[in-house]
Amino acid sequence: MKIFEQFERSRGWSGDETLVLDQVRRLAADRIAPRAEHHDRTGEFPWDNVRALNDLGLNALFVPEAHGGAPMSYRLYLEVVKIVSEACASTGIIYATNFHGMKPLIDFGSDEQRGRLLPRIAEGGLGSLAITEPDAGSDATGMKTRFTPDGDAIVVEGGKTFITSGDVADLILLFGKWSEIPDPRQAISVLVLEKGTPGFEVVRREEKMGHHASSTATLAFNGCRVPRANLVGAPGDGLRILLASLNKSRPSVAAHALGIARAAFRDMIAYGNDRRQSGRRIVDYQGNQFLIADLASELAMTEVWLDHVAALVDGGSSDFGIEASIAKLRASDLAMRMATEAVQLHGGYGYCRDYRVERLMRDAKITQIWEGANQIHRQLIGRSFVSK
Ligand SMILES: Cc1cc2nc3c(=O)[nH]c(=O)nc-3n(C[C@H](O)[C@H](O)[C@H](O)COP(=O)(O)OP(=O)(O)OC[C@H]3O[C@@H](n4cnc5c(N)ncnc54)[C@H](O)[C@@H]3O)c2cc1C
Repeated sequence: MKIFEQFERSRGWSGDETLVLDQVRRLAADRIAPRAEHHDRTGEFPWDNVRALNDLGLNALFVPEAHGGAPMSYRLYLEVVKIVSEACASTGIIYATNFHGMKPLIDFGSDEQRGRLLPRIAEGGLGSLAITEPDAGSDATGMKTRFTPDGDAIVVEGGKTFITSGDVADLILLFGKWSEIPDPRQAISVLVLEKGTPGFEVVRREEKMGHHASSTATLAFNGCRVPRANLVGAPGDGLRILLASLNKSRPSVAAHALGIARAAFRDMIAYGNDRRQSGRRIVDYQGNQFLIADLASELAMTEVWLDHVAALVDGGSSDFGIEASIAKLRASDLAMRMATEAVQLHGGYGYCRDYRVERLMRDAKITQIWEGANQIHRQLIGRSFVSK
């Protein structure tokens, strides 16, 4: 692991950032990782971990100071996601989803909205991002949820599916179509739906292959009256906000996937150095060394690329969509490959629940599907090289 330790030392974290990272690493090692197997087995929502993250004030990392936060760099936020996800992928995605849901409000909301809504998140509230519908997955523009203005309110009718933390969130950033705009793409709009709004219903929670402790909900909006004051931007601003927001949430899911990849790599190396067959350690076989070499190289390169994307964001760039897609694509494909190879290297033991790699393989799969399935990212990246 020397190369990764050296890489970590070279990253130049400030004193304050080092303090945060040390606290997060301790929390992940002492409390989050030891409970991950329990949360995976029972599917209990990890409220204990959410409280522990909030005790460190981790939501405040991305909330502006004026609204109760203590913002630090995007790179630091990504590293926190990575560390928490390495310890427990479910907890990692719950934390990251607060950012995914609330960052568009931070970037595109009015001062009044930020001042009214963000302190709840800075204090530890849960956020959620609701885009997907049963007939609108990869093509989100096909969404049917309808926003109809009615005096000081907007009436919301429709439903969303696969919404991370949708059943437990305090604030849901909800995309739908403005009834008075006929063009289906230009009609996309976005508002904040607050917990307890009458007409809001949790229809079901999915039973999933992995991420058992992160809830994934189907939601219905039966004539929910949302104050007009909760509309983010103007009617029809939704698609622009959606695309800009995904550019910042995709590196975040890349960090989550890299957390899983790091965990699988660690377990693979530890087991391979310990397990002996035919009188030699598993890692002594050259075929396995070649595999480890490929995976270590890929892990190192993907970590560096994610830092590059973070530097673009922290530097104020707004043109980093393809870089974000590359990070998401490579990190998630790596997480899946790393976890699968880690199971393989554990032999039959890897297929059994006694070893963490079994969970990591189940947790890794979704990273290739959400926040734009990887086919979509390949299209986006490929298209960017086609001359106009
Ligand atoms: C556990 C979980 C959590 C989630 N959390 C959230 C959340 O918090 N908020 C939210 O809004 N959504 C969430 N999602 C939804 C997720 O983003 C979608 O599942 C994803 O975008 C894919 O949409 P789909 O499932 O409808 O698949 P489809 O779009 O139907 O795609 C099916 C397959 O076809 C491929 N495909 C589709 N279009 C093309 C194309 N043009 N070219 C080539 N291949 C194509 C896809 O890559 C995929 O392999 C979550 C999903 C899961 C399972």
